[in-house]
Parts: sequence; C-alpha cells; structure tokens
Amino acid sequence: MLMSADGYRESLRAYRPRVFVNGARIDSVADEPLLAPGINAVGVTYDFALRDQHRTLMTARQSTSGQVVNRMLHVNETSTDLLYKLEAVRLLCAESGCAQRYLTHDALNGIFQATARTDAVHGTDYHQRFLAYLHDVQDRDLTLGVAMTDAKGDRSLKPGQQANPDVYVHIARRRPDGIVIRGTKAIVTGAPYMHEFLVMPCRTHTAEDRDFAVACAVPADARAEVLEPYPAEGYRRGKKLKLQLVQIGWAEVELETARAFLAMREAAAADGIDLAIRSGWRSHERQAWLYQAWRMGLGNKAARPGYSNHQAGRALDIYLDAPTYAWLEKNARRFGFRRTVRKEPWHWERVKKWRPRVTAPRRGR
Ligand SMILES: Cc1cc2nc3c(=O)[nH]c(=O)nc-3n(C[C@H](O)[C@H](O)[C@H](O)COP(=O)(O)OP(=O)(O)OC[C@H]3O[C@@H](n4cnc5c(N)ncnc54)[C@H](O)[C@@H]3O)c2cc1C
Repeated sequence: MLMSADGYRESLRAYRPRVFVNGARIDSVADEPLLAPGINAVGVTYDFALRDQHRTLMTARQSTSGQVVNRMLHVNETSTDLLYKLEAVRLLCAESGCAQRYLTHDALNGIFQATARTDAVHGTDYHQRFLAYLHDVQDRDLTLGVAMTDAKGDRSLKPGQQANPDVYVHIARRRPDGIVIRGTKAIVTGAPYMHEFLVMPCRTHTAEDRDFAVACAVPADARAEVLEPYPAEGYRRGKKLKLQLVQIGWAEVELETARAFLAMREAAAADGIDLAIRSGWRSHERQAWLYQAWRMGLGNKAARPGYSNHQAGRALDIYLDAPTYAWLEKNARRFGFRRTVRKEPWHWERVKKWRPRVTAPRRGR
C-alpha cells in the first residue's frame, strides 16, 4: 500500500535505531530537527506517488505480484521503465535536492538480477526468497538503506587477507538455524531514517573469499545479541588468563559479564533507560597504547598494561547521561556491577557473580 510522507515519518517511530548526531544520542529520529531535511526529502518520494499528475512517473505495476508500487521500489522490465525511473529521480531531485530513495531501487534491481543468475548456475532458490521479500517491502512501502561499502582496511589486500577481518562484513559462524554476520559497513545514505538495510558485498569475490560474499536484509534497529563465545587472552593483576569473549554492539565482553550486562540492560529498558557499552575488553596492545597515550598527557588515565580490568573483559565503559547514571547507581549492584574508578562515572565493573533469579514454580493445591 502506498504511504504518504506523514505516514512514512510516523512509521519511523516504530524503530529504535542507535543514532548519534554531533556526539549526542538521538531519542526519536522522527522528531530530530537535524534529521528533518533528510526525512523530508524521502517524504517527497512518498507524497509524489500519491499525486495524480506524477502517478505515471512515480508508480509502476510490479509484474511478479500485479501490485501498483512506488517507482523507487519497482524492478524494471522495459526501457520505458528505465526512462521513467530516471525522470522520476529528476523530478524528485528538483523538489528535494536528493531523492535518496532511488538507492533502494537500484539495490533491489541488482539483487533481482543476481539472485536469478545465481539460481541458474547453482540450482538454488534465492530468487523466490528475494521475490517474497521484495513483495513484502513493496506492500509496506518501505525505504531501505544500502549497506554496501565496507570499511575495507588495507585497499591493496583482499578481504580474507586483512589483519582484521571485520573491516568487511562476513559470515562469522554458520549455525543450524542460519548464519551470524559480523563486520563494518562504512557509509549508508540516510541510515538513521531507513526502515531496513540491504547488506550487500561491495566488490567481486573469488572462492577464497566466499565468507565475504553475503547479502541479507537487516531491520534498522536490529541489535547484535547472539552470544557466540570465542577464546581470547586476557590479563588480571598482571597475570595472563584465558577468556571467552562475546560481541555486544561493537564492544567485546567477557561471557559472564555479558550475560549480567544483558540482563541489566533489559531491566533498564523496562524503565525507559537505554544502556550501551562504549568500551569493553581491551587487548594487551590496546591497553599499552592507551597507557602510553595517558603518560604523554593524552586521553583518560589508563592502568599499566596487564592491570586494567578491561583486559579481563569485566570492566565496561557505559554511555552516560544523567538518568542513565542515576539508574545505574540504584540498580547496577543487583547485577553484580559496581563503579570502581572515582573520576570515571562511566566505568562499571562486574565484581560479583550474577545468576538469573529463578522463581520456584508454585505447588498445585
Ligand atoms: C555522498 C555519499 C553517499 C554514499 N552513500 C552510500 C550508500 O548509501 N551506501 C553505500 O554502500 N555506500 C555509499 N557511499 C560510499 C561510496 O560508494 C564509496 O565511497 C565509494 O564506493 C568509494 O569507496 P571508498 O570511499 O572506500 O574509497 P576507496 O575504495 O578507498 O577509494 C579511494 C581512492 O583510492 C583509489 N583506490 C582504491 N583502491 C585502490 C587500490 N587497490 N589501488 C589503487 N588505488 C585504489 C580509488 O580509485 C579512489 O580514487 C557513499 C559515498 C558518498 C560520498
């Protein structure tokens, strides 16, 4: 169903993406004045599709479903489609400066082709699965961000040759119920006010980089919450120790600390507080670098390498504002966390074991 600009703006309220503007966390994307120009520009693509005089350019019939859809979500079949799409973009840009949503169109058209060709060669069923997704997106009249450009790291190296594989999005693990992806996409036009992201590879991959050839759709406010532990080396009071780390957002955290943090985050969310980790586990090299920087008068105080509880994965630097701090002061102990550095209100450590409280089932009478 075709949406209006107002409907689009309202629909953004159903999402809670983690967005920062000028270093400050944005509570509601739809109400943030600094994001209004972008939202208004995308809004034009919605309103124009509802105007009689623009209907020919701004809408099209999707042959695979028979539905009339916004031109920015349509898959082209004829040269007229291509021409109309071009003219539609001209029209939108003349009104808004940058139509932005045409990127959704281009990505959908690319995946339409790629899935059909992949199936033809490998006998897979990607195309049918893509069509089901396409029709759903068209039906809900969504705007999709294109998460294609990877951070890339060293440009002279292929993805699999990078020192840090996370500079490209890749399959980190395969599980019976699907895949776990991990990595960094760099630039996504309009990211804060998209409904979902189309994650796509940004370069041609050969067989050796097959784990990097991954495409999928991710809701704008999806959170990385799959706890997939992996081994790492940590330090505690100057002694090496073996750790199990997991990823929470962009932070790496020791497994037990992560479980306690996630429980705490859930409790905070119920009280309207959004907890996020700025920094968790640190490698020995990272701690050495921070220590050296501090000695040179740069950055916050840092413990000697080997002596920071960040190296044990139990210390978390948490993004703070006044309500978040007040909540932590009142509740963090319940989850085994305590503030341990006087001048750093953001620094919380797990000092006690935390176990989920299990309520004994009542006996039936
Ligand atoms: C306004 C804007 C909006 C964008 N929106 C999106 C978006 O919505 N989604 C998205 O996925 N991306 C988006 N991008 C990203 C854009 O697609 C990339 O910036 C572009 O593909 C170039 O990639 P890069 O920035 O990594 O530059 P690089 O690949 O690092 O290229 C930089 C320069 O180095 C050269 N170079 C690169 N590798 C080598 C090499 N091995 N040897 C010699 N020279 C080399 C290149 O030719 C180029 O001149 C956007 C960019 C801009 C500016």
